[in-house]
Amino acid sequence: MLAIQYKAAQSLDEAVTLLATTAGARALAGGHTLLLEPTRSQLGAATLVDLGKIQGLNDIGFTRTGALRIGAMTTIAALADNADIQRDLPALAEAASQVGDPQVRNWATLGGSLADNDPESDLTAVLLALDAQLHLQGPNGTRAVAADQFITGPRQTALTQGELITDVRIPIVGGGSAYEKFKHPATLYALCGVAAHVSLIDGKVGACRVAVTGATEYATRLTGVEAALAGQEPTAEAIAAASEAASGLAFRGDPFGSPEYRAHLTRVLVQRAVTRAVERAR
Ligand SMILES: Cc1cc2nc3c(=O)[nH]c(=O)nc-3n(C[C@H](O)[C@H](O)[C@H](O)COP(=O)(O)OP(=O)(O)OC[C@H]3O[C@@H](n4cnc5c(N)ncnc54)[C@H](O)[C@@H]3O)c2cc1C
Repeated sequence: MLAIQYKAAQSLDEAVTLLATTAGARALAGGHTLLLEPTRSQLGAATLVDLGKIQGLNDIGFTRTGALRIGAMTTIAALADNADIQRDLPALAEAASQVGDPQVRNWATLGGSLADNDPESDLTAVLLALDAQLHLQGPNGTRAVAADQFITGPRQTALTQGELITDVRIPIVGGGSAYEKFKHPATLYALCGVAAHVSLIDGKVGACRVAVTGATEYATRLTGVEAALAGQEPTAEAIAAASEAASGLAFRGDPFGSPEYRAHLTRVLVQRAVTRAVERAR
């Protein structure tokens, strides 16, 4: 039988202390991954530290440097519906609106999704493409980690024992962004998802970041595609040629899609996401 204790933290400091000092303690956000774990026999005896009562963890607003700051307990539905995100970071709004179903989006949170780092998570790829910084608080204080450094492997992150994601900051640097997803019709997760951010200089690709999820063991930047696009006039031919640079990755294979199929999806979705990002950048 499972023995689960529940504690509702009233502050970040209390949550961090509970997580750092209680054996088997786990942060509880929307619960849409964590509360499925007993059925997968992964949770065992645990203390769940609920973050839901901590003030300020679901705020969205601009920092003094013009980045958009999004609290870790912001629900996926709130990301999809936020007017600033829809205007300045459309890839994030598009990805959020395609996560699971309305029930999932109303409970699942940005922080829970990132900490979980599911290989098919939509938001991880978007934050890689948007060059996000994750702000963390733990027993040793606070620190900021770039999304590139936060995702360290399959379901592995830079989080240490007792450490929490407090918020995510995304620079607003102009240009255009887009997210394209090919979802499994039953699970609604991404068989493949591609996020792109493109800035144009004199009609040519300047800064460019492209990332894939679902098709690889964990969300990954497509640096070969980025390098192939840099400095190019973004014609359909140039974008199609650049998408070929995704072919060298190690793609996942399972009963839902072979590595070859996921490689094909990645090339197609790179073209669609980059094309729409370029249109928005113009
Ligand atoms: C039916 C279904 C369909 C789904 N479809 C999709 C989909 O299409 N795309 C997609 O991307 N996701 C999908 N999800 C996953 C869903 O988005 C996850 O529930 C969510 O990603 C986890 O967020 P949560 O708030 O529920 O976290 P929880 O389940 O509460 O926690 C998840 C993990 O993160 C840790 N954690 C939570 N918050 C923090 C924090 N602030 N700091 C540090 N650690 C923390 C917890 O301790 C736990 O280990 C789906 C889930 C379900 C059930």
